[in-house]
Amino acid sequence: MKPRPAPPALYTDNFDFDVPLEVLAGRSGKRGSSTYEPERCGGCGKFDAVACLKAGSARSVDPARVKVEWGHTLDAQTVMSSRMLAALLKVPGVEIDAYPIGPGKRPTHWVVWPARLFPPEPIVPQKRLLAPYPPHVAFLSHGPKCKACGRYPEVTYNGRWVSVPAATVLAGIPMEGESQTPLWLFNAVVAAAVKQFPHARLRLLGLENRPPVDSPVEPAPKSRRTRRCT
Ligand SMILES: [Zn+2]
Repeated sequence: MKPRPAPPALYTDNFDFDVPLEVLAGRSGKRGSSTYEPERCGGCGKFDAVACLKAGSARSVDPARVKVEWGHTLDAQTVMSSRMLAALLKVPGVEIDAYPIGPGKRPTHWVVWPARLFPPEPIVPQKRLLAPYPPHVAFLSHGPKCKACGRYPEVTYNGRWVSVPAATVLAGIPMEGESQTPLWLFNAVVAAAVKQFPHARLRLLGLENRPPVDSPVEPAPKSRRTRRCT
């Protein structure tokens, strides 16, 4: 008899719904780029999304246009309603950095990032376009690492499994795309809390959490954000 596949240990949001708003500078940095120019890397030209949010970029958005419980901006930042944020923060161990949308004192929506970030590991450089993932590899890096900030142009993942500490409640893995969208990871308790929001238009994708494997991979990029991991 074939062994049954293990039930998912972690979940991520398999999103396909975008909120039509622009929180950060858009692709190629044309929209609003002057405000966030100080957050741009001198080497690769990427913005640091978290630094932009800390600088107040989310406050320039018209909150009346945001109506979802959980969605994404066109530049791939995650947006969450105050209601949903409050519910998730009640789950023990959940830590979320939230940046208010709109100027009001009682924001209805927030741009959110997992407070705990892990580097994408195990990772190897992609050698061939659309090559299948080797069995021991969860992440592929695309293009050379930036000499100034240490980030790859982009990181992708296999969509099936990750390797993070077993006790992880909620965390993110920066994917280092143009907006460094993190991959959200959360355990079954958080997934249950998320399911209380049927209008979140959130599709949960089950992931296996494999124990870390020894492989001759490069260390993760020492970006400003991945250094926050412990
Ligand atoms: Zn750079």
